[in-house]
Amino acid sequence: MLDNTQIERIEPTTVNSAKVRQPMYAARRKIFPKRASGSFRRFKWIVMAITLGIYYLTPWLRWDRGPFAPDQAVLLDVANRRFYFFFVEIWPQEFYYVAGLLVMAGVGLFLITSTVGRAWCGYTCPQTVWVDLFLVVERAIEGDRNARIKLDAGPWTTRKLVLRASKHVIWLVIAAATGGAWIFYFADAPTLLGELFTGTAAPVAYITVAVLTATTYTFGGLMREQVCTYMCPWPRIQAAMLDESSLTVTYNDWRGEPRTRHAKKVLAAGHPVGDCVDCNACVAVCPMGIDIRDGQQLECITCALCIDACDGVMDKLGKARGLISYATLSDYNANMILATAGGASSVNPSLVRTDDGLFSDRVAHFHIRKIFRPRTYVYMAMWSLIGLGLLFSLLTRDRLEINVLHDRNPQFVTLSDGSIRNGYTVKLLNMIPEPRTIVVTVGGLAGAEMSVVGVDLPAARSFAVQVEPDRLKMLKVFVRVPADQIHGEAQTFTLRVEDKASFESNEYTATFNAPEIAR
Ligand code: SF4
Ligand code: SF4
Repeated sequence: MLDNTQIERIEPTTVNSAKVRQPMYAARRKIFPKRASGSFRRFKWIVMAITLGIYYLTPWLRWDRGPFAPDQAVLLDVANRRFYFFFVEIWPQEFYYVAGLLVMAGVGLFLITSTVGRAWCGYTCPQTVWVDLFLVVERAIEGDRNARIKLDAGPWTTRKLVLRASKHVIWLVIAAATGGAWIFYFADAPTLLGELFTGTAAPVAYITVAVLTATTYTFGGLMREQVCTYMCPWPRIQAAMLDESSLTVTYNDWRGEPRTRHAKKVLAAGHPVGDCVDCNACVAVCPMGIDIRDGQQLECITCALCIDACDGVMDKLGKARGLISYATLSDYNANMILATAGGASSVNPSLVRTDDGLFSDRVAHFHIRKIFRPRTYVYMAMWSLIGLGLLFSLLTRDRLEINVLHDRNPQFVTLSDGSIRNGYTVKLLNMIPEPRTIVVTVGGLAGAEMSVVGVDLPAARSFAVQVEPDRLKMLKVFVRVPADQIHGEAQTFTLRVEDKASFESNEYTATFNAPEIAR
């Protein structure tokens, strides 16, 4: 177990502070985050591996849809206006599923933020994940914090040139792979990869890769924390979603203050001493370059690396972990009231401890039940209802559809035998990746017969037609009704479509127009 003075003190300079805010247009101060280790860092490695794995590998997953549809598991087929997601195929008119998923993602984000603060920012936001990845490369090439600071301040030697060039080349390769992976979601990935390298891909593919390479390299490698602080609206919006029961990364000054590196001397002088040894380890690991001890700040993405750093220091000192921890504002306020005797004095950590040095029973700790409150119940209910609604709709949706458009001019034609003929444009949608024989039948219109333009079939009450897999077939159909069967200017009737193989059917209610004189 170490003494306060034996803990290494780091001297990082914060880029901003809750007390003294930098002007919006101040020149950037470089940050050299120190490598952190601990449970949150491990969790972030796992999340990073999963999110990057999903992003890079998904276009390469195959899904057998038969010979008439692409076998890429996730594909946005812009040319044919289809979205494939494993067993789900979305047509343009079904885009409400995607809109529903986006609404679910939004409500999910509200739920997560109101529960555990900016967890999205700290763990899964692409900016965070790619900055983390770029930092891994930087550390591997240039070393940890001190080595990088030294290299940055040093003159341009051959070694510095080689190290810097290597870093930027690897960053560019990662950025190009990122841009490359994106376009694979829009075409058959193996085919497009071959076309990219043989120079036969469409120009838009090269332009997209170039733009995404540039943005990934600039945002992830060069701008880093500035994207979160100055460009992203989320830090501003999230404040409206937090309440006193939301978990955020918190410096517990009710046990940390007064901070000192000379505890023995201060205690001997009869002054209270907090747990913080003012080592600045929490500041040195912060990828945003701030000091969490200044309180909640817009820059904090709640990545929890300062928790890991401080827990490591507490372990060395033999003190309880959690000087920096995930805590709710209500617990923090309750503990501050305790540590300041209701606000009557400055923080005195002895007020939150018993004589044997343990925390008093009156100290508030987070409990999982605090997550479950009216606000989170409402978010959970909304999220679940939208999800169930989408699922129900997906499982019961039609895969065979008919749309009918009545000719506007002429609305009807009187034939030489006195019968009346109406013309329609009939659209048959076969929404499965297999060819089908669709039977179209007219119903509810006595004596009616149909004939199809360009199809050599005798006029009848029904006809069968082949529809290609995953395609829309448009037909010009005439419906003829004998004069003695006309019972009004506008009679409704149905056009029913049926696939005799799967027994799937659908129908459309149309109108048959006739002149007044025919009655
Ligand atoms: S203050 Fe802590 S939680 Fe916030 S960004 Fe810095 S290291 Fe992450
Ligand atoms: S909060 Fe923890 S890591 Fe930060 S200076 Fe104090 S003791 Fe060190």
